[in-house]
Amino acid sequence: MTLLPGSTIGMLGGGQLGRMFTVAARTLGYRVIVLEPDPHSPAAQFADEHIIAAYDDTAALTLFGNACDVVTTEFENIPAKTLEFLTQFCPVRPAASAVEMAQDRIVEKEFVRSCGLLPVPFAAIRRIPDLAAAQELVTFPAILKTARLGYDGKGQSTVHDLAEAEAAFVRMGEVECVLEQRVDLACEISVILARSVSGEVRCFPVAENEHRNGILHQTIVPARVAPALAQSAQAAATRIANKLDFVGVMAVEFFITRSGELLVNEMAPRTHNSGHYTLDACITSQFEQQVRMVCELPFGDTHLLSSVVMVNLLGDVWGDSQPLWLALLQSAHTKLHLYGKREARVGRKMGHYCTLADNADAALAEAGRIFQQL
Ligand code: ADP
Ligand code: MG
Repeated sequence: MTLLPGSTIGMLGGGQLGRMFTVAARTLGYRVIVLEPDPHSPAAQFADEHIIAAYDDTAALTLFGNACDVVTTEFENIPAKTLEFLTQFCPVRPAASAVEMAQDRIVEKEFVRSCGLLPVPFAAIRRIPDLAAAQELVTFPAILKTARLGYDGKGQSTVHDLAEAEAAFVRMGEVECVLEQRVDLACEISVILARSVSGEVRCFPVAENEHRNGILHQTIVPARVAPALAQSAQAAATRIANKLDFVGVMAVEFFITRSGELLVNEMAPRTHNSGHYTLDACITSQFEQQVRMVCELPFGDTHLLSSVVMVNLLGDVWGDSQPLWLALLQSAHTKLHLYGKREARVGRKMGHYCTLADNADAALAEAGRIFQQL
């Protein structure tokens, strides 16, 4: 059933993705209730209501579920049980099963394979002897990653031989891990897509992503890759969304190797940092598209209106004082987005900006010049 403006959307998670979703939803006239344990939530600043509670607090979830017409999420680590519990009150989009798939790297990579796609060569590591056995599948240098709860390069360690791998595994507390081939990357791209309740899919333009220290630094659109490769990535992401019976907006990150191979890195059952460019450079943003999908509205148009570069603003840029915002605001075709976080910490995503230009090279040059001055 279509939920029209005036209906209430529940958002699980209160970070910047929830914030930009909330702005989009309220712009369209929806009410938004955020459930998030942190009282200083970027999303709650824009929401109609903020329920400050843990994701497994059944009394709070009952209150939340009863007040909402539909529930969605901005955070892949919402417990599947929470999403399942909420289905007794209203539709939950995406479903627990689709969110759960992205919570464990081992499950995720096996799922990618079951879709007929290529994950990065990997081995599941549960005990120390698994590392020696893994050498049949993975050669050094490799990256040891915790199977669960990693983000922005956290929970990862590059290892050059078996001894280093064993030491890293012990350091990580011998939790379940994957040992992954370190790939010689030509570039990284991502596909953000929306899938409706009736199973239709629309992809946003493919984004080219540059990471620094495992954290996204900038996104360039249109991606500077062969059109055939961009189309294969969109087809692969679509296959994944269909197989998950996904409803909402999701992202798939890809590696392109020096030999031109397309590998699936990971997926996110939510809007994505590399899709922030859609806020300023597309007819419909990824956040409005999420509102449309969870409320069973028609798709918004996903066309790119301008070449664009999105640059993340990490806490590193703050140092002891505010960044020199005027250097950015003097650029008349640059848009600043700050997330309302109280404290700037190294590696913490505080905001981003999008610089629009006639072509990707011009946008890159301008965005880079601004970044130098901040
Ligand atoms: P996260 O969940 O932290 O985003 P990712 O697995 O996407 O974890 O890793 C973050 C970044 O680290 C990637 O976007 C890429 O730049 C780099 N990276 C991760 N795994 C590999 C790999 N196997 N080979 C080369 N680079 C990698
Ligand atoms: Mg990633």
